[in-house]
Amino acid sequence: MELQPKGPSTKGPADLFTGDVRFDVVANGQEPSRLRVNLFAQGACTMCHSHAVGQRLHVTEGRGLVQSRGGEVVELRPGDTVHTPPGEWHWHGAAPENFMAHLAMGESPGAGGGPESEWGDLVTDEEYRSR
Ligand code: MN
Repeated sequence: MELQPKGPSTKGPADLFTGDVRFDVVANGQEPSRLRVNLFAQGACTMCHSHAVGQRLHVTEGRGLVQSRGGEVVELRPGDTVHTPPGEWHWHGAAPENFMAHLAMGESPGAGGGPESEWGDLVTDEEYRSR
């Protein structure tokens, strides 16, 4: 058994997130585990990105938005869970006038499997404020 006491949260890097984002690493599994769980509290949104093995977001607080590339902007409320399949480009974040907290759950692709996530363009203000 290993207790992982809560430490200071990490500030999300400005090249991946707009605005103020902080996160705690909940799980960073070592092989053979590939589990990745992070708890995010944010007042803004991610850049457009994709995850090699997909991702599940589970909203715990606030009000959020998620959009797959080319799709509608969808509102998220506490208790909602979103799955983005492997390689699907998307962004997610807090609604413009709210904060949001979510668990982001995924897996590393494993040894030799390439990067966990790929990052692309900034979400336009038009997309971010369309809902
Ligand atoms: Mn994502």
